[in-house]
Amino acid sequence: MAYMTQKDLANTEVDCVRARQIADGVHSVQDAIAQAESHYGRKPESVTLLAATKTRDVGEIMAALKAGVRVIGENRPQEIVAKAEILRKEAARENLSVGVNGSINSEIPLYLIGQLQSNKINKVLPLANGIQSVDGIELAQKISTRAQNLGLCTDVMLEVNVSGEVTKSGCAPERAIDEALAISSLPSLNLCGFMTLGARVNDEKIVRSGFAALREIRDCVSEQLAQDYDGNSAKLELSMGMSGDFAWAIAEGSTMIRIGSAIFGPRAFV
Ligand SMILES: *Cc1c(COP(=O)(O)O)cnc(C)c1O
Repeated sequence: MAYMTQKDLANTEVDCVRARQIADGVHSVQDAIAQAESHYGRKPESVTLLAATKTRDVGEIMAALKAGVRVIGENRPQEIVAKAEILRKEAARENLSVGVNGSINSEIPLYLIGQLQSNKINKVLPLANGIQSVDGIELAQKISTRAQNLGLCTDVMLEVNVSGEVTKSGCAPERAIDEALAISSLPSLNLCGFMTLGARVNDEKIVRSGFAALREIRDCVSEQLAQDYDGNSAKLELSMGMSGDFAWAIAEGSTMIRIGSAIFGPRAFV
């Protein structure tokens, strides 16, 4: 993570040209979401925009918030640690509350969307509202125990590797229903949905079939939980779609798209 020494992630100053670029990015993605919702017969405003803010500093993130972004996703625990406190202070000056410690209802939730090693769980839990990248019951169990110890309740999503690409994390689709049901019964956790990364190919049929598979998993788990909970279970989110494939994800039922480069431009660091 060389960029963490090359770039000051806590920087709060952006010039007006950069702020304008980011605002334009947010607005063009918002327009594209509305267009995809209408084109694919989805309800208006049924898709939430999460800004994927890896490698971006606090000033860049604030520019996105001022342009209307209301959900943030960070990939790395170290980046959350480097930014969360100062971001919260900057946002408070705009009367926005970001990633409020221990509250799952903060105005602007902050999610971890990248891999979480067990030794980072205690650092992340007080700073994030939820973790989208839980790959199974083993990690969920650890998060649950530590959340309980800290007196927190944490939203989690099960990450599923729908494309089967070996470079991707997430649980195998065949295991997803059992894993999700097991996670849903753990204390101090709230299973709030499913997350996936689309196949890395430029083929609509292949990419969409992966997203459709996640939707089917979600529908099946929703049905089972509704039976268990006497019909009172909350709606489970589908976090799928990135800059290159979000329209196809919306076509397949995505409720939350995670957008980085289409808002902030290309990343200077990997
Ligand atoms: C980086 C990242 C995104 C956003 O990627 P873009 O292609 O820049 O939109 C979404 N989700 C995850 C998990 C990411 O790591």
